[in-house]
Amino acid sequence: MAASVVTEKDLAYQQCIVPSCGATYDVGEVRTSCDACGALLDVVYQWDALPVPKSLSDFETKWSRRNEPLCRSGVWRFHELLPFAPPEKVVTVGEGQTPLSPSDGVADYVGMSRGQLFLQYEGMNPSGSFKDNGMTAAFTHAHTIGAKRAACASTGNTSASLALYCCVSKLMQAVIFIGSGKISYGKLSQALDYGALTIQIAGDFDDAMQRVREVSSRLGIYLVNSVNPFRLEGQKTIMFRVLESLGWEVPDWIVVPGGNLGNSSSFAKAFHELKALGLIDRVPRLAVINAKGADTLYELYESRGLRWRGGMPNIEVLDNYYAELDSAHVRADTIASAIEINRPVNLFKCLRGLECMDGVVREVTDQEILDAKAQVGASGFGCEPASAASVAGARMLRSEGVINPNERVVCILTGHQLKDPTATVAYHTSDQKEFDRVLGSRGVSRAAFANRAVQVDNDLDAIVRAIQLNS
Ligand SMILES: *Cc1c(COP(=O)(O)O)cnc(C)c1O
Ligand SMILES: [Zn+2]
Repeated sequence: MAASVVTEKDLAYQQCIVPSCGATYDVGEVRTSCDACGALLDVVYQWDALPVPKSLSDFETKWSRRNEPLCRSGVWRFHELLPFAPPEKVVTVGEGQTPLSPSDGVADYVGMSRGQLFLQYEGMNPSGSFKDNGMTAAFTHAHTIGAKRAACASTGNTSASLALYCCVSKLMQAVIFIGSGKISYGKLSQALDYGALTIQIAGDFDDAMQRVREVSSRLGIYLVNSVNPFRLEGQKTIMFRVLESLGWEVPDWIVVPGGNLGNSSSFAKAFHELKALGLIDRVPRLAVINAKGADTLYELYESRGLRWRGGMPNIEVLDNYYAELDSAHVRADTIASAIEINRPVNLFKCLRGLECMDGVVREVTDQEILDAKAQVGASGFGCEPASAASVAGARMLRSEGVINPNERVVCILTGHQLKDPTATVAYHTSDQKEFDRVLGSRGVSRAAFANRAVQVDNDLDAIVRAIQLNS
């Protein structure tokens, strides 16, 4: 279908992210790329003609109407900032009731002044990860256009989220594609429990992603991966809630793990729009943290100097890099399965976001990830391995002096602690074989913060002695 012309009645539409192309498409079209040039799309609004609040604090009036589902949802109470669907079409399961909390334990570990490090715990979403923020938005769009089936490729959390929205709403069937590698049982069990049609292919996430695109287009199934621009609209609200929790003050740093780079891209869009609307006066800096075993963004941005350059990135740098990966048969490999991705679908949007937020990218080892995860756990939050990359990355940036100890830093904890108990138990185990089996092959050689179970005979005196010895 040809690009359409935006008219006055199109308060929301889709637009190619490449400024020199700028093709526009109706908000009701289902597409994940631009026909004219193949690039990703944004959801764009004619803000002038929309009822945008004068101040972010206007959203506080919604708190007194929490009996209304659209005010209770931590995504849809910001409906005015993602107004692509009419309220009556919104599908919500109460997502986005997530807390921002200061953590002095983690501040000490990262090397920040106390009171300056905050954790945004997106694991508290209904399906246990931040994915619900985006899924409610994509699902709502799918519903507005009358879709009956929705599909995704997933390292686990996207599928858990999609399966949840399908089974709660009964509006669509979920078709999920997973690889046969390291999906954690916590995530797989959700998809199975929620009744999703689960297609497990012999391959990894990057393979599953390619296949789900082909299958969706052949069978006309609605695709909810983060190439879907509506997903990212929902994920913007994570930043709105961060601001809300800080009394609408802008922090200095947002630190987030990078997988498919949907989150980082959406955060930048959120701040860009708020600034353009005059609702904030400055934009925080962004740090995207890769795992060392899946470090495409780090490699391209920090080592090879790939930049957005106003929409004219040097594609050759990217093509060369992917050709190198292919010829060396490199596959993504990290304990942080949610970010075990070598071909991030939102790469260009993320490059644009890094430009907008004066961003940096770092890579952290699985050892650093698991040690940081243990510190997050010991501080009472808990998260899955991928999430802890944000804390490990903040620590690295702090030790480099890029982050100043008195700045205000928000680390996003993307997924719940119980998503991947295997990694946690292996880290804390005293069984060297189990440790090596689960963790060792990824270069994790020690558990700096292990809390070992004490082995004791089933004997009262022995148990009492063990407790006295260890307390
Ligand atoms: C999906 C996911 C990520 C990666 O987020 P992107 O937006 O793909 O970069 C990180 N952590 C967890 C727990 C996830 O589920
Ligand atoms: Zn285009």
